[in-house]
Amino acid sequence: MRAGLSPDLIARVLGGVPKYTIAELEEKFPLRTLPDGAMVTRFAPSPTGYMHLGGLYQVLIDKKLAQQSGGVFYLRIEDTDTKREVDGATHIILESLRSFGLESDEGPIANNKYSRGYYGPYFQSERKDIYASVAAELLTRGAAYPCFLTSAEMDEIREKQKAAGLPTGIYGEWAIWRDASAADVIARLDAGEIPVIRLYSTGNPEQKIYCKDAVRGSIAFPENNEDAVLIKSDNGLPTYHFAHLVDDHFMRTTHVVRGEEWLSSFPLHIQMFNMMGWIPPVYIHTSTLDTIDDETGKQRKLSKRKDPMANAANFISDGWPVEAVLEYLFNIVASGYEEAKAKGQVKNIWEYDLKIKKIPMSGALFDMKKLEWWAREFIAGMPVDELVDRIYAWSEYYDEFWGTISGQKDYLRAILSIERDNPKRIRKDFVTWKQTLEEVAYFWDDLFVGTHTCAQGREYAPLQEFLATFNVNDDKDTWWKKITDIAARLGISNGDAAMALRVVITGRTNTPDLYSIMQVMGDARVRERIGKVTNG
Ligand code: GLU
Repeated sequence: MRAGLSPDLIARVLGGVPKYTIAELEEKFPLRTLPDGAMVTRFAPSPTGYMHLGGLYQVLIDKKLAQQSGGVFYLRIEDTDTKREVDGATHIILESLRSFGLESDEGPIANNKYSRGYYGPYFQSERKDIYASVAAELLTRGAAYPCFLTSAEMDEIREKQKAAGLPTGIYGEWAIWRDASAADVIARLDAGEIPVIRLYSTGNPEQKIYCKDAVRGSIAFPENNEDAVLIKSDNGLPTYHFAHLVDDHFMRTTHVVRGEEWLSSFPLHIQMFNMMGWIPPVYIHTSTLDTIDDETGKQRKLSKRKDPMANAANFISDGWPVEAVLEYLFNIVASGYEEAKAKGQVKNIWEYDLKIKKIPMSGALFDMKKLEWWAREFIAGMPVDELVDRIYAWSEYYDEFWGTISGQKDYLRAILSIERDNPKRIRKDFVTWKQTLEEVAYFWDDLFVGTHTCAQGREYAPLQEFLATFNVNDDKDTWWKKITDIAARLGISNGDAAMALRVVITGRTNTPDLYSIMQVMGDARVRERIGKVTNG
C-alpha cells in the first residue's frame, strides 16, 4: 500500500467531496430480506441497440435461477461507454425481455430512466456518486491512486514493453504515478489535468489466486499486478471492473451469470472484492452459442454480422412461438428438460429445476432444425383458440397478410381447427406464426395462387362432373361416394379424381383433409375456384 490521499486532495481528484461513506452505502442498500437460498441475479447489458441471442440465453438462466429459488432478477443498464450508446437501446432491451416473457422484477421499466426497485439507480450513468464514494475509500487507504498518463505516453510504454518482450499494461515500474507525491499530483491538477483512478495492485503474478466458478470449479490464475483503471477521466464513470465490484455488491447480487469472455479479468475482480473485504458473488461464466460456419465448416460463435438468428428480435418478427425458443434454449442449459416434458413430469420450463452444475461449459450449437422441432411440438399442443389469438396478434404487427386476414378471426379459427380434433394425430406442420399463415394462405382468394394449367389436361372432366353434383351439405361419406363414382365413370383412380379437385381448390398437391377444407371454404368459394378452371 502507498500512503493514502488527504480528504482535500481526494475531493479535487474526484471533482467533488464524496457523498457517502462505505458504512452509509451499506445502510442505504441493506442486505435483502429473502428466504434462505434465494438467488439475486441480474442482466447487465450495455445499451448497444441489439439483443443478441446469447444475451437472451443468459437472461433465461438469470430469470430461472431467481424464479426457482424465490429470489429477484433485476436489470441494470451498463451505459458507461457513452461513445457506444445508441438512442432507444434500453427500449429494445425492455421490449425483448417483454416479448419473451422474461421481464425483470426490478430495474428500468421505460426508456426515460424510470425504474422500479430499492437498489437503484439501475442505470450506471446515474450512479457516479456511489462509484466516487467507493473510489474515495480506496484513495484514502492508498489502495488506489490518480494517474495522469496521456495516451501518447501509454502508447510509448506499450511499444517499449513489446520491444522488450514484456507483458503490456500499466504495472510495477511502468506505473509511474503509483507512488507519486501529493505535490506532483497537485501540480497536475493545478494545470487543469483530470486523472484516471487506478487500482494500486499488490498482486504478484508469480503467485496464484483461486477464483471459483460455480460450474467450472476453482480456477487458478496468476495474481493480477496491473493497476487497472477504476474511474475514467473523460466522464468520471467507472470501468466495467469497478462497476461490477460496486454494483454487484451494493445491489446485493448473489449470482453473476456472464459470458466466458470475462474469465480473463476474473482474478482482478476477486482481488478487488478481497481488498474491500466483501464476499464475492457466485459466478457462472456461460459458454457461447455457436453455429457451423457455412464457408469454413467450423463451429464458431453466433455472429451479429453473419447470422440473422443472432438477433433475438428476429425470432419475434419471424413469428416464432417464444415459448418454443425458450424451451429450446432451456434444454441446452438443462438437458434433462426434454425428457421430463415428454414424460409429462413438467408442463413448461418454469416447472423444471435448473441445476447450476449442469450448465454446459463448452460452446453449444444452436440448431435451427432442433428449434423447429420444439416449435412444431409446442404449436401442436396448443388449444386452437390460443393458436388463433397468437397468430392474429402477431400478424397485426408483423405480417404482410394482415390486410387480408384482419377481421377474419372466425374464418382463421375454422381453418386452423382442421385436423385438430384428434389429440393423438394433431398435425405438426406448423412451425411459426408466419409459416402457419403461409401454409393456409390459399383459403383467402387474395392470397390464393391457382394452378390453372391442369384445365387442359385429363383432370378437366372430373372437375366438371364434381361441380354438377356438389352439395356443400353432403356428409363426408356422400361426398366421397360422389368422387369415387366419378372416377369409376371416367376410368381413373379415386386418387387422381381427388387430386384434380385438391389442386384446383388449394393450388397444392399436399393438404390436410380435402372434405374439411371444402367445408371451411364454403359453397361459393369452392364453386368459384372450380368454375374458374372449367370455364376456361
Ligand atoms: N455489460 C457487460 C456486458 O455486456 C456485463 C457483463 C456482466 O454481466 O457482468 O458484457
